[in-house]
Amino acid sequence: MSLSRNSLLIHGGIDGDEKTGAVNVPVYQTSTYKQDGLGKDRGWEYSRTGNPTRAALEKLIADLEEGQYGLAFASGLAAIDTVLSLFKSGDKLIVSDNIYGGTFRILDNVFKNFNITYKIVNTSDLKAVEEAIDDDVKAVYIETPANPLLTITDIEAVSKIAKKHNKLVIVDNTFLTPYLQRPLSLGADIVVHSGTKYLGGHSDTISGFAVVKDKALADRLYYLQNAIGGVLAPWDSFLIIRGIKTLGVRMDRHVANADKIARWLVESGFVSKVYYPGLESDPGYEIQKKQADGAGAMISFVLNDKYDYKVFFEKLRLVTLAESLGGVESLVCHPATMTHAAIPADVRKSVGIVDELIRLSVGIEDADDIIDDLRQAIEASAK
Ligand SMILES: *Cc1c(COP(=O)(O)O)cnc(C)c1O
Repeated sequence: MSLSRNSLLIHGGIDGDEKTGAVNVPVYQTSTYKQDGLGKDRGWEYSRTGNPTRAALEKLIADLEEGQYGLAFASGLAAIDTVLSLFKSGDKLIVSDNIYGGTFRILDNVFKNFNITYKIVNTSDLKAVEEAIDDDVKAVYIETPANPLLTITDIEAVSKIAKKHNKLVIVDNTFLTPYLQRPLSLGADIVVHSGTKYLGGHSDTISGFAVVKDKALADRLYYLQNAIGGVLAPWDSFLIIRGIKTLGVRMDRHVANADKIARWLVESGFVSKVYYPGLESDPGYEIQKKQADGAGAMISFVLNDKYDYKVFFEKLRLVTLAESLGGVESLVCHPATMTHAAIPADVRKSVGIVDELIRLSVGIEDADDIIDDLRQAIEASAK
């Protein structure tokens, strides 16, 4: 029976426990497994290599992403590390010009040391992507909406260009989740995630994923997952499975709240700039609408010069100043000194991540309470 999206969130992957009838996949808190004789294991050998709780989650994320093979990792960056380990010295990646700070850091300070290098490109500009491709480029790595400016890249169009030149396309789908966007079905080769964010959804578990369709690519990634070892623990796998069950209802509320708050910000007179791809005025609006089922719940904005953003952060009462995003509670952050501090100031400035930029992860509280808090904090920050 083929299930639609909301049912798949609850019944996708490996549903329940065949042995006992438990409606939830048990937490197989074990490092190793009894073998019945030499070479006679029961399909499980060692929990770095494979664990039934993790395997249930891996199957679930593969189903949700319309992929064939899922891999769960101890963090989003562990997933990204493993995916980047597909490449070898001399290889080059094209990366979107605003990406998660940690992704930039691992490229710039880890993989570059192994001569796996990157070119920063505005991937919304298809011509720029095509022009940046040369023999050394092996993959295009995109985030859409990108972090923190919510820039939209046309996944299908970039995938067509990449395919023509025989390059891989990797998409970080953290901001929208497979509930809203499925890059593999738009032509991407690898999807990566920080499951820490919306998939877990409760700001209580660090996790990451990679999902692919292609068997050869999956085999290579499973090999690397086991060889590098950054796997997700059984208990954390259970927590993410639990989080995913409510992903649909959470995302619906997240997106409705974000839409309301973005429109309020535009009308408020408090801001000089609002970045939200759900606004008709946003340059990415049409592509976003075409390739995803919603614009997500991340909003970035700049207060106009009557207000002091540093004071604003201190005056918030409901919305919490913290790293991270995608939890049920609204969080706000200052990209220049927090999530994107790893990006050198000149690079930040050149892509538009100004010091005054505020990033809001809209939670599932009542939108009016979030608006009231933003309003009082902005008013209290008047210079
Ligand atoms: C948080 C995040 C990551 C890194 O994930 P961790 O789970 O923190 O390691 C990668 N990409 C994006 C878009 C993120 O928001």
